[in-house]
Amino acid sequence: MANPSDSETNDRSESTPVLVSACLLGRPCRYDGKAKRDASLEQELQSAGLRPIPFCPEESGGLSTPRPKAWIESQDAAAVWSGDSEMVTEHGQNVSKEFKAGAALAMEQCVKHSISDAYLKERSPSCGVEQTHVQNKPVAGPGVTTALLIKNGVRVHGR
Ligand code: SF4
Repeated sequence: MANPSDSETNDRSESTPVLVSACLLGRPCRYDGKAKRDASLEQELQSAGLRPIPFCPEESGGLSTPRPKAWIESQDAAAVWSGDSEMVTEHGQNVSKEFKAGAALAMEQCVKHSISDAYLKERSPSCGVEQTHVQNKPVAGPGVTTALLIKNGVRVHGR
């Protein structure tokens, strides 16, 4: 006979939300107007009973798609948050405000849905986990959204 407490545990597990970079779920929200769908991630989340909540910090922060490439001007994401560095586009435009706004909205989603895990796109200036972009080059370190999520206790997994 089924144990009611097991059933309750499963129900809870099946509805556990996780934040996912929208481009990994097929939304064409990248700077070049394309998606980066990761079918194996979708499969893994489904098998684990996790409910993906798609989110694109750059679009949510007010940037259009497609948009110019952007990167951290110097140092790292922490320096952007402390005001010692900026987010700049390939045309030299300062887009720190938009990147920070998008990151804050990503964190808001995590709080709103009690999210403790996020699956984010590697090497992005927003979503990168092990690597991001500084001066248009991949370097070790998180993007600006990832840095904020980590600081606030969200476990972030790179894809
Ligand atoms: S900001 Fe994140 S979700 Fe949006 S396109 Fe870039 S990697 Fe994907």
